[in-house]
Amino acid sequence: MNARLQAAVIGAGPSGFYTAAALLDHGFDVDLLERLPTPFGLVRYGVAPDHPKIKDVARVYEKIATHSRFRFFGGVTIGEAAAHHDLVARYHAVIYAVGAARNKRLGIPGEDVSGCHAAADFVGWYNGHPSRRQDTYDFDCERAVVIGNGNVALDVARMLVLDRPELAVTDTADHAIEALARSSIREVVVVGRRGPAQAAFTAPELRELGDLSRAEILVDSGEGALDPVTTDLLGEAGSATARRNLEVLNGYASRPKAQTSHRIVLRFMLSPTEILAGAGGRVSGVRLARNRLERDRGGTLKAVPTRVDELVSCGLVLRAVGYRGSPVAGVPFDDRRGVIANDHGRIVDGEGRARRGEYVVGWIKRGPTGVIGTNKKDAVETVAQVLDDRAAGRLLAPPMAGRATTALWLAARVPELVGWNGWHNIDRRERAEGDRTGRPRRKLVVLEEMFGAARDAPVSEPRASEQTVSPELSATSDVFRATSA
Ligand code: NAP
Repeated sequence: MNARLQAAVIGAGPSGFYTAAALLDHGFDVDLLERLPTPFGLVRYGVAPDHPKIKDVARVYEKIATHSRFRFFGGVTIGEAAAHHDLVARYHAVIYAVGAARNKRLGIPGEDVSGCHAAADFVGWYNGHPSRRQDTYDFDCERAVVIGNGNVALDVARMLVLDRPELAVTDTADHAIEALARSSIREVVVVGRRGPAQAAFTAPELRELGDLSRAEILVDSGEGALDPVTTDLLGEAGSATARRNLEVLNGYASRPKAQTSHRIVLRFMLSPTEILAGAGGRVSGVRLARNRLERDRGGTLKAVPTRVDELVSCGLVLRAVGYRGSPVAGVPFDDRRGVIANDHGRIVDGEGRARRGEYVVGWIKRGPTGVIGTNKKDAVETVAQVLDDRAAGRLLAPPMAGRATTALWLAARVPELVGWNGWHNIDRRERAEGDRTGRPRRKLVVLEEMFGAARDAPVSEPRASEQTVSPELSATSDVFRATSA
C-alpha cells in the first residue's frame, strides 16, 4: 500500500509541467496524462519555429520529468481511454491543464469561405501538429490579410514572409516549408480593430519584424497616429507596453522606403465586416469598417464602427483573434468565458461550490492570455488550493488508487501508450534527422509514425527492455519515468 498521495495532471503543456513540478515539490506522486505521444503542448505546436530560444524552455520540463515520482502517459485521451469517473476513482487530486485549442470566430458573413482560416489552425499546420498536417493553404496570391493585433497575428505574418533559407534552419514541418517556399504572397496586411496603443502584441515581437530579411514594415502615418481619446489616456497613465509599441511603430513610420520584395503593412482602427468570395468561391477580399474609439462605462476603449468602409483585395485571410477552451466531459464549463468553471483553480459546480479534489490551471483556467512563464505563477496558485485542501482533508478518497495498478490499467486501455522513454525515442529520431539537414529537429507529423518511433528500441539508453508497454509489464516497472538526468 502506497501512503503517498497521487495526482493526475491532464495535459503536458507548460501549465501541466509547472503544476507537476509544484506537486512533486510537495510530496505528491504525479502522473502527466497527454492525448498526443509528445509532450510540451504549445511549446512544440504553438511557439513559432523561428523562435528556437523560446522553445528551449522544454529543457526545464525535461528536468522536471527526471523526478522519480513523475510519470508520463502519452496517447491518453480523456473522455475516451480514460473517463472523468476513472480519474476520480484513481487519484487524490485531478488537475486539468488542457489549454484552449479552439479559435474564436469573427461572426461575420463569409467567414467560412475557402481561403479564410483560423490562425490557430495555420500555426498548428506549420508546426506539424498531427491533426492539422493534411490541411491545405493556397498561397497563390499576392496579398494576405491577418485579422487581429496580438502576438499570434505577428507570428503568422512573419511566417508568411520568411524565405526558404530562413525556414530551412527551423523545425517548421516539411510540408509547410515546401508550401511556404513556393508562396506568391508579397504583402501581408495586419489589421487591428483599435489603435496602436491598444494593440495586444508586445514590443519585442513588434521590434523583431524590423529585422526580417526580405520584408519592410509599413505603418500608415495617419493610422499609426494616436486618436484624441488615447492621447488623453496615455497622458494620464499609459501602459509601458503601449509606449514601447508606439516607439517602435514611430520608428517604422519614419524609416526610408526599402527595396524589399515583401512587406508587412500594419493597419489600425479597422474591423472586418465581411469576407468576400470571388470566382470559384475562394476569398477575394475583406470589407473593413473604419472605427473610432469610445470609452465604455468601465473606462475601456471600444472600437465603434463609422459609416466609412473600404475593401482590401486578397487571396488568403487568417483570423488571429484569440483562442477559446473546449469543454471536458464530466467537468463544469463556463461557456461565456470558454474556460472550465473555477474559483482560483478549484473547479466549481453551477452553484459555485468547489468540487472535491478537482482543479484547473493554465489557459483552460484563466483564458488564453499571458506568456509561457505566466503559467508558472498560475500553477503555484492552483497547487496552493490543492495543498489547502490536503491540509483540510478535502482531497478525493479514491477507492482504486495505486501507482502500479494505475499503470497497468492505462496500458490495458491504451495499447499505444507512450512513456517518457517512448517520447525520448521520438525526440532522438527527430533530432537525428534534423542533424542531417542542419535543423534542430525534423518533426514527425503522422501519428502512426510517432507511435512507431516511440516503440523503437533505444540505441543508447540502458533500459531497452522497459520500452515495450504492455498490460503484462511488471507492476513495479518505471517504464513511464524519465531515465536521463
Ligand atoms: P490576443 O493577445 O488576445 O490578441 C487577440 C487580438 O484579436 C486583439 O488584438 C483583439 O483586439 C483582436 N480581436 C478579438 N476579437 C476581434 C474581432 N472580433 N475583430 C477584430 N479583432 C479582434 O490573442 P493571441 O494573439 O491569440 O495570443 C494569445 C496569447 O498568447 C497572448 O497572451 C499572447 O501574448 C501569447 N503569445 C505570445 C507570443 C510570444 O510571446 N512571442 C506568441 C504568440 C502568442 P481587442 O484588443 O480590440 O480585443
